[in-house]
Amino acid sequence: MNNFVQPVSVEFEDIYFIKGARDGKYPYSHSLLLKDLLIDTGISSRLLRKLKRLFPIRNVLLSHWHEDHTSGNRLLPNARFLIHSKDQFLIENVDKFNEFYGISNTAGEEVSDWLMEGLKLQNTKIDEVIEDNQIIKLGNGYEIKIIHTPGHTAGHCAFLELKSKIAFLADIDLTNFVFYAGIDSNLMDFEESLDKLKLLDIKTAVTGHRGIVEGEKTIKKEINDYRSIIYKRDERILSCFSETNPKTVSDFKNQNLIYKYYSQFKEYEIIAEMIMIQKHFDKFLEKEIISSKNDGYILN
Ligand SMILES: [Zn+2]
Ligand SMILES: [Zn+2]
Repeated sequence: MNNFVQPVSVEFEDIYFIKGARDGKYPYSHSLLLKDLLIDTGISSRLLRKLKRLFPIRNVLLSHWHEDHTSGNRLLPNARFLIHSKDQFLIENVDKFNEFYGISNTAGEEVSDWLMEGLKLQNTKIDEVIEDNQIIKLGNGYEIKIIHTPGHTAGHCAFLELKSKIAFLADIDLTNFVFYAGIDSNLMDFEESLDKLKLLDIKTAVTGHRGIVEGEKTIKKEINDYRSIIYKRDERILSCFSETNPKTVSDFKNQNLIYKYYSQFKEYEIIAEMIMIQKHFDKFLEKEIISSKNDGYILN
């Protein structure tokens, strides 16, 4: 067996963890293979070509529309593609990605175009849309339950195989960075999705960029830690507010409130950071922690 393909657990040898290129770091991601069904296709073109030679891939279940999980779709022209209805439009219209990342006509667009071109992104025709709680039967007693987990994108889904209790959590990736900078991202939905995952009976979790996390207790703790990243951002942003001096999102520009440091994609990250700060503003407003005054917002 090639070293990028490994059984997730000794007990279930026919469910494979497929390790993405660059250890699953963006612009790549990890996948899971269950019989002839592959979850996500962002492992890299080179590895996906290899995987196709090892296994017949007839079905592809996509966790969400983002390019780092879907760039290999074009290499599987005969497979059936499934995605949540809320992410269908984007995966069928990749020219809308910049608009949904909120970077059309900004300095971030150049970085994005360069990346998307490198990934050779193409539109994917979806054969079937999936919905929350749907069960996909795979034979041998394997059944995948769809868990709609919006927040990262509107149609983001996690998947739980019920017999093995192995789950794929996609971009609820249990790393130290939480991303909700899409036009279709929603911070409060994201938090609800984390609560939803905590109620599930998951023995082994595989995530898009982290890999395998073992053990029910560990997984629940990791989900809590992941959530606390959002809380810490709440606190950092709120600590800049006062009861008298109104603040706007642009007052928070370029201050590393979310990105500890900016990378070579700085132009993009500064915009993404502002979009994410806006999501915190939306949450504070909804929870009546801040209210509008003049052209900005103050603490209640
Ligand atoms: Zn994503
Ligand atoms: Zn991702």
